[in-house]
Amino acid sequence: MNQAFEAKLRDDLDALKKAGTYKHLRHLTTPMAPEVHMEEAGDVIVLSSNNYLGLADLPEVVEAGKRGLDRYGAGTASVRFICGTFDVHRALERRIAQFLGLDAALTYVSCWNANTGLFPTICDEGSAIVSDELNHASIIDGVRLASKARRERFKHGDMHALEAKLKSVQGCFPIVVVTDGVFSMEGDLAKLPDIVGLAKRYGAISVVDDSHGTGVTGETGRGTIEHYGLSGEVDVITGTLGKALGGAAGGFVAGSTALIDTLIQRSRPQLFSNALPATVACSSLAAIDYLDSHPELVRSLREKTRYFRDGLKRIGYTPLESESAIVPIIVGETAFAILISDKLLKSGVFVTGFGYPVVPEGTARIRVQISAALTRDEMDRALRGFENVGKETGLLKD
Ligand SMILES: *Cc1c(COP(=O)(O)O)cnc(C)c1O
Repeated sequence: MNQAFEAKLRDDLDALKKAGTYKHLRHLTTPMAPEVHMEEAGDVIVLSSNNYLGLADLPEVVEAGKRGLDRYGAGTASVRFICGTFDVHRALERRIAQFLGLDAALTYVSCWNANTGLFPTICDEGSAIVSDELNHASIIDGVRLASKARRERFKHGDMHALEAKLKSVQGCFPIVVVTDGVFSMEGDLAKLPDIVGLAKRYGAISVVDDSHGTGVTGETGRGTIEHYGLSGEVDVITGTLGKALGGAAGGFVAGSTALIDTLIQRSRPQLFSNALPATVACSSLAAIDYLDSHPELVRSLREKTRYFRDGLKRIGYTPLESESAIVPIIVGETAFAILISDKLLKSGVFVTGFGYPVVPEGTARIRVQISAALTRDEMDRALRGFENVGKETGLLKD
């Protein structure tokens, strides 16, 4: 390797280490579950996974993946339009569309792929995209790829700002408004009734990426749209199969038949990259079926989130309020958040600290994510860890 380039990479990495923002990967040796074995820390309770419903190691989901491997082999060694689509892809896509109450859906190998495949395909010269400033990085990059479109960002959750931007792009076609359903760093929900209303008033298409909402929000886990009673009102939903819906990988776009057909014809990840592995299509399909027949899982997740949030408050924390299963605790500086999460890990609680630049300076946080699979005992043990570390670090006063 080029010596000068190697030296530059090492300097950059050293700078990350000095700033305390260098990321150490943790190695799990058991399936994702409320308790896992970690090479670096032993047995720990997981409060930092998106395994919201505990489906990642559910026997029904695992078995479906195994059957998929037996039936379809490793894959097609081809992109979809050439010879790379199995019947289970069609079955999964129909299931996703039906589950979300839309006409059609198309899977990608990730929601990152879905978002970067969507915007450049539907937004060409003369179009406009209006995006919440806190939208997920995959939306930001997807919007960037639509380089000929006018691109506007509005202040997070500020409906006056959204309306002003929508006014400013009148005359463009199409106009697309895009938002996360659940914002992952705050856990707050998009103001979808207002966003959908404004989109209609200003002739815009609404796109909601509900990656953290699917399986979590709404009475039956159909997501933020169900939460607000807006079924049928949002034009396009994108989402992931890598969080509540089994947790392997995969993403999708759901919308009208014409939209999905357009993506099949022109979306670049569809044309130039292999499909979701059939094994994952099979396990994801099983995860959706399971969620559909067990809506009590979503209720249980809600109750457990309330229990844990109340527990944190009882010992003196003030977590941000939200209606999702994300419970952030603001602690201030990035290095402090990292220190707290390290101490929690030593006490057997695996939860991640996030700091600048992922969140604004001075608002570094510990982000707790609840899973319906957590037991009362596991939550109580985790709360004791929070109490001890809070006192030890001075975050909580005695
Ligand atoms: C997690 C997440 C993604 C990425 O999902 P992958 O399927 O892992 O690529 C995209 N959008 C949002 C809003 C997310 O939270």
